[in-house]
Amino acid sequence: MAGADERDKSAAICETCGETVVVWVWPEGEIQPVGVPDPSCCDDPEFQVLGTDPADDAIEE
Ligand SMILES: [Zn+2]
Repeated sequence: MAGADERDKSAAICETCGETVVVWVWPEGEIQPVGVPDPSCCDDPEFQVLGTDPADDAIEE
């Protein structure tokens, strides 16, 4: 069961530049890019989450 502060890793596409990125999706709806030195690919990115991968749910962190 996911706790209140569980985050899900998901693929997302930036609608601003079209780049596909991996993001953390927080329960509050915040989306944060994963594994990139810059906070985002654009100054004002618009991420569209492509859907969580069910396989990731089995991975404990
Ligand atoms: Zn972008």
